[in-house]
Amino acid sequence: MNASALKPRVLTVLGATGTIGVNTLDVVARHPERFEIFALTGATQVDRMFEQCRAHRPRYAVMTEATAAAQLRERVAAAGLTVEVLEGSAALTAVATAPEVDTLMAAIVGAAGLPATLAAAQAGKRILLANKETLVVSGQLFMDAIAASGAELLPIDSEHNAIFQSLPRDFNGDFQQAGVKALWLTASGGPFRTLSAEAIAMATPAQAVAHPNWVMGKKISVDSASLMNKGLEVIEARWLFNARPEQIKVVVHPQSIVHSMVEYADGSVLAQMGTPDMRTPIAYALGFPERIEAGVSALELMGKQLTFEAPDTTRFPCLQLAFDALAAGGNASAVLNAANEVAVARFLDGAVPFSAIAASIAHTLEALAGGVATTLEDLLDADRQARAVAESYLNRVPA
Ligand code: NAD
Ligand code: MG
Repeated sequence: MNASALKPRVLTVLGATGTIGVNTLDVVARHPERFEIFALTGATQVDRMFEQCRAHRPRYAVMTEATAAAQLRERVAAAGLTVEVLEGSAALTAVATAPEVDTLMAAIVGAAGLPATLAAAQAGKRILLANKETLVVSGQLFMDAIAASGAELLPIDSEHNAIFQSLPRDFNGDFQQAGVKALWLTASGGPFRTLSAEAIAMATPAQAVAHPNWVMGKKISVDSASLMNKGLEVIEARWLFNARPEQIKVVVHPQSIVHSMVEYADGSVLAQMGTPDMRTPIAYALGFPERIEAGVSALELMGKQLTFEAPDTTRFPCLQLAFDALAAGGNASAVLNAANEVAVARFLDGAVPFSAIAASIAHTLEALAGGVATTLEDLLDADRQARAVAESYLNRVPA
């Protein structure tokens, strides 16, 4: 189809000021005829949001923090921009579900992204899902909402996007029928892959956020260092692709060139490869089913060595904790996620050592897992309780 004949997609970007948000707007700017921005959202970064408003001219800009919203309102008024500035979390849901919007980029970090993303699923939007925590906390509920409304779900997480690309286009969650044996999630191994357990225990926030291959927000960078990111991705894959836990495998691939793989009954293994740059999965989902230019440098394979090794769950207990939470079901994944969010924030503040992250999650799971959680209220309740238990545990850990 001729691109100029297309009706532009009308887009809301939740978490526009973050790493995924910035990469999304970079791809969007390459295709002005394809996309119109309805709303951009952020929490506190006024300067960046102001620049984004100037470049993309959204109808609405949301700052969840009231003081940031007030500052942005002044800036846009002084610049003569017509954008309307909204504040507070309820505004996230409003701009995610507005009838004008057909596509939502869900790129808020953490369970804070859940209510608006779930509402967009209920409203039948095309959802480009970066916010993996939504699926970890509310996987069943979210997938049920997608099915009930006929919403479209496209994964942005590079591993899940790779698997999506390597599955048959008509895959409906039936592994048997599609001849799929297993999903292989690749993991870079993070910045601590070769460190001893003692060195990992004492690692600093600066070391933890220095990822060898990807530039990402701080929280997911720490998750990559602990391998909790891979654990969250195992749970994400379970829901996205209707996989049983034993059908999800993890392999460490330090070069981050093979982004993940699908193993078939006949012995075929299909992989998606590329330069590690989030604009590839973002462009794939933005253009779907067409392929569009993403600004990504070509994959240079000459002279490269690709290696694969088993993950070490002794030095990286968070990966095992995630598999355990998935097996436990009920409220366990929501508890795991909340305890992790609290522990990562405390670690980044310098209040607790790196080793406290896994320890506090294990403690919180032991205290709370086993509860039933089916409704959104149950899940948010599990999230609140887990935050309280993890906080009080971490208050007793010496820095
Ligand atoms: P980031 O920290 O760079 O950005 C987070 C965004 O969320 C910002 O716009 C921030 O303003 C907003 N935000 C933070 N707290 C909020 C709150 N309480 N309410 C409303 N908005 C809030 O994070 P990121 O690296 O862009 O990651 C975003 C999501 O995408 C995460 O779920 C992450 O796991 C996932 N993801 C990121 C990458 C990556 O390469 N960065 C890859 C795969 C998946
Ligand atoms: Mg990933």
